[in-house]
Amino acid sequence: MNKRLKIILIILLVILIITIISITLLKIFTGKNKDEGNISTYSNTAISVMENMDLYDIINSKEYSKTVEVLLEENELKKEYLNDYYQINYININNFSQTINLLLDKNYNSEEINYITENMYENIDILLNMDYIDILAFKDIANFDINNYERYLAYQEENKEYDLATVVTYVNIGLDKEGYSEYTEYTNEEAQDDLTILVNKYHKLPDNYEPNDLVALSYNSNYYLREEAAKAFESLTNAGILEGVIFYPFSPYRSYETQEVLYNRYVARDGVAEADTYSARPGFSEHQLGLAVDVRSSTLPDNLTPEHYEWMLDNSYKYGFIVRYPKGCQHITQFMEEPWHLRYLGVELATKVHDSGLTYDEYYDLYMK
Ligand SMILES: [Zn+2]
Repeated sequence: MNKRLKIILIILLVILIITIISITLLKIFTGKNKDEGNISTYSNTAISVMENMDLYDIINSKEYSKTVEVLLEENELKKEYLNDYYQINYININNFSQTINLLLDKNYNSEEINYITENMYENIDILLNMDYIDILAFKDIANFDINNYERYLAYQEENKEYDLATVVTYVNIGLDKEGYSEYTEYTNEEAQDDLTILVNKYHKLPDNYEPNDLVALSYNSNYYLREEAAKAFESLTNAGILEGVIFYPFSPYRSYETQEVLYNRYVARDGVAEADTYSARPGFSEHQLGLAVDVRSSTLPDNLTPEHYEWMLDNSYKYGFIVRYPKGCQHITQFMEEPWHLRYLGVELATKVHDSGLTYDEYYDLYMK
């Protein structure tokens, strides 16, 4: 009995010793990774700077941070921002250390700084020249343009009913400024080469621009469109005929001079303010592109029946056309509704614009710039 008890005791003792040794070894290994492992990860330069700054113990008690290391190496580490640095992801950009210090000086927090360095680096100089802004409010707004920030604020102030995304898009379009007051002008080459260019009260065509591939429409040999648009228009017309929707083109391509005569006539009749709501000034008309055509129903001289308008909304995109000035969009397009005015964009883009439910002004700002 005694002997068996002794053996059992010895076995228990051995198990106990093994357990203690294992736990001790485990502690030593994990402890080593935590305590000594991280400090040895820092470069010698970084370690000597942290020693000089009396920060060795503090930094040694925390996990390794590449951001902290780079700041130490470049002698840019500020003690008061030490805790923030640990939350800031290192990014390999020019002047990383100075940039994050300047942002911290402006009271940006680490989350905002991570967003800025990762997403807005090309505009960082603009941001550094501004006071703090609530940058994360624009995080999900892809067309946010830091250059327009002041205009967003001013426009939002005057239009409190709009959400921020709408404000951004409308300001980018130019709607915070009077139409025609400021505009960019395309070159002849841009107008000729790009069938998708946006023409509105903020985007002008050259006075002498005339497309070099105008062709007569079979319906009327005095009516012209650019070749691709003319073909597409024939297809659209034929598709309408098959479904009993008969419409006719009028006023397709118009030269700068023709537009000038028309616009001046309207001004003489209704005054500038009124004329500007329904007629583009010369140089600002899509008709000069040779990519726009007005259509009318057989029964009405200058209009499209509501049924035909519905058909056009639902079908014209299949042939590359959009209804450019739809109902309820005057505040965006800057023109009264013109159910009859079609703009050619090609099937692919016209389909996307149709599916987006946006005006072309909005779509262009959101997806084409
Ligand atoms: Zn028109």
